Formats: sequence, C-alpha cells, structure tokens
Amino acid sequence: MDLHDSPEDAAFRTEARHWLEANLTGEFAEARGLGRAGRQHQGRELRTAWERKLGADGWTCVGWPIEYGGRGAPVSQQVIWNEEYVRADAPARVNVMGEGLLGPTLIAYGTEEQKTRFLNPIRWGVELWCQGYSEPNAGSDLANVQTRAVRDGDEWVVTGQKVWTSYAQWSDWCFVVCRTDPEAPRHKGLSYLLVPMDQPGIEVRPIRQMTGTSEFNEVFFDGARTGADLVVGEVNDGWRVALATLAFERGVGLLGDVVGFRRELDHLLNIVRTSNRSHDPLLRERLADAWIRLYILRLNTLRSLTGVDGPVAPPQASISKLYWGSWHRDLGELAMDILGARAEVAEALPYDLTDLQRIFLFSRADTIYGGSNEIQRNIIGERVLGLPPEPKVDAVAKGAPIP
Ligand SMILES: Cc1cc2nc3c(=O)[nH]c(=O)nc-3n(C[C@H](O)[C@H](O)[C@H](O)COP(=O)(O)OP(=O)(O)OC[C@H]3O[C@@H](n4cnc5c(N)ncnc54)[C@H](O)[C@@H]3O)c2cc1C
Repeated sequence: MDLHDSPEDAAFRTEARHWLEANLTGEFAEARGLGRAGRQHQGRELRTAWERKLGADGWTCVGWPIEYGGRGAPVSQQVIWNEEYVRADAPARVNVMGEGLLGPTLIAYGTEEQKTRFLNPIRWGVELWCQGYSEPNAGSDLANVQTRAVRDGDEWVVTGQKVWTSYAQWSDWCFVVCRTDPEAPRHKGLSYLLVPMDQPGIEVRPIRQMTGTSEFNEVFFDGARTGADLVVGEVNDGWRVALATLAFERGVGLLGDVVGFRRELDHLLNIVRTSNRSHDPLLRERLADAWIRLYILRLNTLRSLTGVDGPVAPPQASISKLYWGSWHRDLGELAMDILGARAEVAEALPYDLTDLQRIFLFSRADTIYGGSNEIQRNIIGERVLGLPPEPKVDAVAKGAPIP
C-alpha cells in the first residue's frame, strides 16, 4: 500500500485545506472545536449554520455520486476530507446520520421520488435525521424490534418505543425499523420507514448521560403517522435495508477520528512532559503503547479501505470498530491515571468537566454503539477465525441443540 497522496489526491488535500482555512473565520471562527466527545450539545445553532455553509459550497456528501449532488470523490479523497476537517478543528458535524447513513441507503434502495425528496435537503444541511433502530429489548438483538407499523389508507401508523436515539431532539426526520408483519419470522416482518418527527404522535425524552449532557433520547411513538410511500425497499424487507445502513456506519470517518485521537494523545503527552512524572517507566510504557496502537489503527483502517468502493466488508469493519472503541476507552483511563487525584475534581468553572474528563466518561460509549465490543468479537470469531457460531435465539427457542 502506498501511503503517499497521488498527485490528484494531493491537489484535493490542498483545496480542502485552503477552503477550511478560509472559511473557519469570521462568525465561524467560534465554531472551532465545538461538539467534541461528551460536548455534543455545544453550539447547535452555529454548527447548523456551518453545516449549511458546507452544503452551499459543496463540502457535504463529498463521496455521493455526482448525479445526486455529491462530488463523486473516491475513497482516498473522502478520507482526506475527513482528515483535513478534523485537523482544521472544524466543529462536529450535525447531520452525520443523514449524510453517512440514510443518504447512501436511499441512493442504494430508495425510489426516485424518495431520492428527489430527501437527498438535497440532507446535502444542504436543512433537514436533520436520526436513527430509530434500538429499543429496550432490541439493541444487539436488533431483529427483536417490537415497534409496530400498521397501514391505514395512505399512511402508516407507528406505535412503540425506541431508545438511545442520538440527536432525536434536534432532528426533522427519523428512519425507523418497524414490525409490519407480526406473524412472520423475526427478520422477515420488518420494514424501514421514514417518519417526520414534528407531529403529535411522537414524544422525545432526552436521557441525561454521565457527562451531564443529553446526546441521546427515548422516543415514544403513539399513533405517529407517515406516508404509505415512505418505506425504503419493499414492505417486510426492512432487515436487508437496515443492515445496508449499518454497513455504511463506519469507514472513511475513522481516519478523521484517528487525527482527533492523535490530538488527544498529544495533549496527554504535553501534560506528562511538563509534570514530574515524565520519567516514570510504567507511564512511559503505557504512552508508547497508546501511540503504537493508534498507528496500527490508522494502518489497519487504511488497509480495510484499500480497493473498496462502498461499505467496508463486515469482518474488517468489526476489527476496526473493536480496535477503535477500545483504544479510545483506554486513552480515557490513561488520562485519569495521569491526572491522579485531580481527575476527580471538576476544574473548569462553573463546575464544568474538562476535555479529558469528558473523554474518559464519553468513551465508555465507544465500546457500545455501532455494535458492542462483544458483538464485534463474535463476528470476528465466527467469520474470520471460523469458530463455531453462537446459538441463534430463534433456533434455541425451538429446541435446536447448541453447537
Ligand atoms: C452513545 C450512543 C449512541 C447511540 N445512538 C443510537 C442511535 O442513534 N440509534 C439507535 O438506534 N441506537 C443507538 N445506540 C444504541 C446502540 O446501538 C446499542 O446500545 C447497542 O446496539 C447495544 O444494545 P443495548 O444497549 O440494547 O445492549 P444489549 O444488546 O442489551 O447488550 C448488553 C450487554 O450484553 C452484551 N451482549 C449482548 N448480546 C451478546 C451476545 N450475543 N454475545 C455476547 N455479548 C452480548 C453486549 O455486548 C452488552 O455488553 C446508541 C448507543 C450509545 C451508547
């Protein structure tokens, strides 16, 4: 693998860097660094205005095909854009779900009407989306979704509860996995619906997290309505569409994260260099280990993207997700160990948490969302190492022997 930019990629990197330098100025200078881990609530209005600025200048959805308003950028340039974006300390994006998950899913499975209706507002940053998958008894076991959708004339009527729905409180639309045929086997009776959030049948209740902020929510559907034509893919074939969305979840964005992680590690290194612990051999070993693992994360992610022109294949994506989530969690723990007793005190006023404290608290979530570490290990065990598969819930319930 050649780790250097090709001449085209180098030109693209320069263009991206110049645009970011020229535009993270004026009113947007204040947006730098907003919305990082554990601070997702920060500067929503400014970040939404920034999203629209990105959209107006063609810097959202760079990997979408040109016919849908993207730049048709190859994977290498999508990676470069993410790296340069984080390097410039640009604010966390507000429509990750729309651009990264729903958009590619609609391009692959949507009707022409759905594409015409929804893709441009995502690209322009004027309609924000959230992901309605998880329920109290359907997280890792997503096929257990119980939220029901029933046809009523030209509409679907949705009843049930979702949980952990990130950004629901700021979203205009939600892509919801619903049960449309309760008689069919678990995976076969699901549909993928697009549901408007601003209606009487939907109640969003923010969940207060240990960072003190509320990134995600409970969402209650009580007779919520959406159009009969707003099913993506076929009715009762939502499992296939839902899995396609998940496949888009991680990939090029990881390399932007690596740049952000490096900044966090450098921050820690600076603290240690200026402290009286810089000669502590155990600490030095842990810092070197963090540096090496981060380098491996970068190389492994680059390898998983090499030759790929779409979602990364599941085993590679699982390896990256497992490594990525564990690295960040461990960095948070290392930061607290370095700070020692100071880690227990809210230093910033008014009793606000510091960046490192927020990283420590929020990174616990990194090993859960997007598929927990245990689930990634199951996938790697079964699909890469060829270990015996885990017993399937349906089969065991019907009395099949555990392999
Ligand atoms: C910050 C954050 C944001 C999120 N955002 C969204 C969102 O926007 N939309 C959305 O739909 N969901 C979202 N989620 C939910 C996320 O997808 C789920 O938390 C995740 O899938 C795990 O499901 P669960 O929480 O129900 O845990 P469970 O599935 O109940 O798992 C509990 C524990 O058991 C383990 N476990 C479960 N099954 C197995 C198994 N077969 N083998 C071994 N161990 C197992 C898990 O690893 C975990 O440790 C978010 C979660 C977090 C933390």
